[in-house]
Amino acid sequence: VSANSPDATICVHHPMVTVEGYRSFSVPVYRASTIVFADLKAYRERVARSPDGYVYGLAGTPTSRTLEAQLTMLNRAARSIVVPSGQAAISTLMLTVLKAGDHILIPDNVYPPTKQFAADTLSRFGVDHDVYDPMDLTTLRDHFVTRPSRLVWIESPGSTTMEVCDIPAIVELAWRHGAMTGCDNTWATPLFCKPLELGVDVVAEALTKYVGGHSDLLLGALSFAEIGLYTAVRNQLSTLGVGVSPDECSLALRGIETLALRLNHMEGVALDLAKRIAARLGEVNVLHPALASCPGHSTWRRDFTGSSGVFSIRLPGVSEEQLSLALDALKVFAIGASWGGTRSLVAPMDISAVRSVSQIDTQAPYLRISIGLENPADLWRDLEGVVGAVGY
Ligand SMILES: *Cc1c(COP(=O)(O)O)cnc(C)c1O
Repeated sequence: VSANSPDATICVHHPMVTVEGYRSFSVPVYRASTIVFADLKAYRERVARSPDGYVYGLAGTPTSRTLEAQLTMLNRAARSIVVPSGQAAISTLMLTVLKAGDHILIPDNVYPPTKQFAADTLSRFGVDHDVYDPMDLTTLRDHFVTRPSRLVWIESPGSTTMEVCDIPAIVELAWRHGAMTGCDNTWATPLFCKPLELGVDVVAEALTKYVGGHSDLLLGALSFAEIGLYTAVRNQLSTLGVGVSPDECSLALRGIETLALRLNHMEGVALDLAKRIAARLGEVNVLHPALASCPGHSTWRRDFTGSSGVFSIRLPGVSEEQLSLALDALKVFAIGASWGGTRSLVAPMDISAVRSVSQIDTQAPYLRISIGLENPADLWRDLEGVVGAVGY
């Protein structure tokens, strides 16, 4: 075809078709790098559209903004921002609010890559951290007396060992000592806990888990109590060059529609299975916030409206060989990291290398269990096999 053909222009100018009379439940997938402007004045004034308006594809499209608006409503937040993963939510928040000379406090039972980010990356930029026991507020108070902190990170329940900490008490301590607070709420989702209502400044969530819900996407979110921090993070993401794919957001928007239904189902099945395992292992070795023996159970009752489908079991005295035999015999559960999908998973956890201050058994093997949507009787048959194979 000739370069002078009118078809060359027709090929790149999509015809306008009417959207009148077209209504659908689905959120369109808007892909964009370039955003175009009606006239030169609008282009020159584009910076005034930030942080909420459309300036460049990296900073958001109507697809990502719809997901952000929905998370804002569920979290009772001022604004939300979607980022490429749960870990990116945590790291970009920290990169935005911290500067050389600052100090932060991180709970011992945090999602391990967060501790690693502080040790490997923040340290190179002159930000120090201490690890605190989230169940020991006296020692936490002593940390503030020793050294001012800029940020106290919270995760409740904690990864693997599932302790439920006292979020309002930690917020109160931080506030009195001039520190801000951020909370990883991935386990509960905003349907079972709203940390902003408990006083934290910012909530992080791995949408990869329950919001996505089908083990096929990676996304994270930050939800903010105040617009000022939101604006700072939006600006920081643009210079870091971090944005999200509208296709991932579209999948998350589909996932969020069934979130309440999936969580309610998983809550019931997980709690029933946890109780059955507790009858064999002893309740002290089943770490599930809705069981009375779980550290922080009464705090969970006060601050949460439900429990999701992830809990852990501790297997003191069980050898690596016994564990391999037991897990290799699983028929319905798959072995794998991440969680929150439709398929049930187990992941063996060795916490001995990542814990330093908690008063817990770090030597025993742990199994993290994520309950999916399979028939509960099939799941019990598998779990009963594991408990029997390791000698309980
Ligand atoms: C999985 C997880 C993350 C990280 O999410 P990704 O999207 O996999 O980066 C953060 N916090 C908690 C508690 C998690 O379980």
